[in-house]
Amino acid sequence: MTNTESAPSAAKKASARKPAAKKDAPTVIEVRNPGTGQIVGTVPAQSADEVAATVRELRLYQPEWEAIGPDGRKEWLLKLQDWLIDNTEHLADVLQSETSKPRADALIDPSFGADLIGYYARRAAKFLADDHPSPHSPLARVKKLTTAYRPYPVVGVITPWNFPLAMPVMDVIPALAAGAAVVLKPSEVTPLSALELARGWREIGAPPVFEVVTGASETGAAVVGNADYIQFTGSTATGRKIAAACVERMIPYSLELGGKDPAIVLADADIDRAAHGIAFGGMFNAGQVCISVERVYVEAPVYDEFVAKLTANVKALRQGIDGRELKHDVGALANENQVDIVQRHVEEAVAAGAKVLTGGKRTGQGTFFEPTVLVDVDHSMSCVAEETFGPTLPVMKVADEAEAIRLANDSVYGLSASVWTGDKDRGERIARQLNAGAVNINDVFANLFSYALPMGGWGLSGVGARWGGANGVRKYCRQQAITKPIVPTLQKELFWYPYQNAKLLTALGAMRAAGARGLRRIDIPALLKLKGDNK
Ligand code: NAD
Repeated sequence: MTNTESAPSAAKKASARKPAAKKDAPTVIEVRNPGTGQIVGTVPAQSADEVAATVRELRLYQPEWEAIGPDGRKEWLLKLQDWLIDNTEHLADVLQSETSKPRADALIDPSFGADLIGYYARRAAKFLADDHPSPHSPLARVKKLTTAYRPYPVVGVITPWNFPLAMPVMDVIPALAAGAAVVLKPSEVTPLSALELARGWREIGAPPVFEVVTGASETGAAVVGNADYIQFTGSTATGRKIAAACVERMIPYSLELGGKDPAIVLADADIDRAAHGIAFGGMFNAGQVCISVERVYVEAPVYDEFVAKLTANVKALRQGIDGRELKHDVGALANENQVDIVQRHVEEAVAAGAKVLTGGKRTGQGTFFEPTVLVDVDHSMSCVAEETFGPTLPVMKVADEAEAIRLANDSVYGLSASVWTGDKDRGERIARQLNAGAVNINDVFANLFSYALPMGGWGLSGVGARWGGANGVRKYCRQQAITKPIVPTLQKELFWYPYQNAKLLTALGAMRAAGARGLRRIDIPALLKLKGDNK
C-alpha cells in the first residue's frame, strides 16, 4: 500500500505533544489483586482532553505507518512478538497481580498473543493486497478496476478485564497490521498488563502509533468521541451506549458482547470427554470467559451418568492463589461485583427449587466462589437466563435433540455453543440449527484459537466480528474504488454534455444490451420516442 500524504512536520508533532489543558486534576485509580485485596498499582483516570491529545498525536504518525506498508509493519509486529515471548514470565506476574489467576491461566495470554501476532503479521500483505475485480459488463472493460484497502486513521479499542493482555492483543494487532494507529482503553479493573504491552511497543523502538489511555467509563467515552473506528469488547449494556455514541458521530463500530453459551450433550456422546470438556469450558478463568459454557442440556438416557461425572470433575478442581508454581486450576473472580452476581444467581436458583451438587458459596478471603454445579434448574431462573460470567454450570435434562435445540436457542444471546455427539455429521447438522456465532463440536473454545474464522456474536452478543482471515484486517480499512483507463480515451464520453439523442441512444442501448435479458435489451418505446425528437 502506498500513501501520498506528506510526513508531518516536526513542528506539528511537537505542538501535538504539548500537554492538553486539563479541566480537572486527574484522579487516580487503584488496581487491586482480587485474591488478596492488596493494591498492586495505580493509574491515572485520564480526562477527555488527554484522550483527545493522545488521538491527535496518533493521527500525526499514522500516515507514515500506513506508508511503510504491511511488510514494513510486519517487522515491528514480529519484534513485538519476540518481546512477548522474552517477557512471558514477567507478563504472567503482572497479569496474576491484577487478576489472581492461576499461573497456568496467566501464562496463556502472552503465548496466545505471540500466536496471533504471527498470524496477522505474516498474512497482512496478502489480506490487504488490492483486489482487481472483473468488470461486470463488456462496456466496463475499458477500465482497470481496483479496490484498495485504506485504514481508518485511528482505531479505538476498548477492552474488559477477563484477559487483560490477550484481549487488547486480539484487536490491537489486526488494527496495527491494517495500518491504523491505535488508542487502547483497557478495563480500569486490570490496566497494568495493557500498560506493559505499550511499554513493550516503546521498548522495541516501534513508531509511536500505539498508545494506552487509562480510566473508567468517561475515558472510554472520550475514546469513542475521538477515534475513527471503535472495536469494543464488554457487556451488552455498555455496548448499547457505545453503539449510540458511534451512530451520533457516524463512525463504524464492532461490538463483542456477552453470552450465555449452551452445551448440548447427546446420548451417543463420549460422556467422559463431554464431562471433562464442559467442566473446563465452564470453569476456565473461573467462568469469566465470554464463550464459557453457561448452561448444559443433556439427553435423558445419559443424564445421570453425565451429571455424576461432571460433578466429580468440578469437585476435584483446586482453587486458590498461585505464585509462579502451577498449584491451582481456578482462581478468584475479578471483583466483588462479580461475586455478587454469581451469588445471586445461585441463591435465586436454590430458592426456586434448584439443587447444588458441588460448590455454591464464596470461600476464603478474596473474591473466590466455589466451582458450582446446579441441577433442577429451568429457564425461569437467572442462572439460566442471564449471563453469569462466573464458575457455575446449570444442567438440564432434555427428552431429545429437538428439545435441546429449542432450549439452546431460547436466549437473547448468541455467542457460541457446543454439541457433544458420537456422530460428527449429526453435530454439524445441529450446529446449523443453533443461533450462535460459533459452534464447536466435541470441544470448547476451539473457535477462539482459529483466527481464520470470524469470532462474533448474534443477537445481543454483538455486532460485527473480529478476525476471520482477511476480514480481520479489512474491517479496519475503508474500501477505496479506483478506476483507471486502459484504452485511449476520447475527447468526450458519450454521456457527457451536450446531450444528444443519437449518442444517448447508443450509450443506453449498449448498457441495456449488456445487462438485460430478452426483448428488454431493446427499449422499443424509448427508441420510438428518441426517433421522433432526434435532431
Ligand atoms: P464493561 O462493559 O463494564 O466494560 C468494558 C469496557 O468498557 C471497560 O474498559 C470500561 O471501562 C469501558 N466502558 C464502560 N462504560 C463505557 C462507556 N460509556 N463508553 C466507553 N467505554 C466504557 O464490561 P466488563 O465488566 O469489563 O467485562 C465483562 C463483559 O465483557 C461480559 O459481559 C463479557 O461477556 C464481555 N466479554 C465479551 C467478549 C467477547 O468477545 N464477546 C470477551 C470478553 C468479555
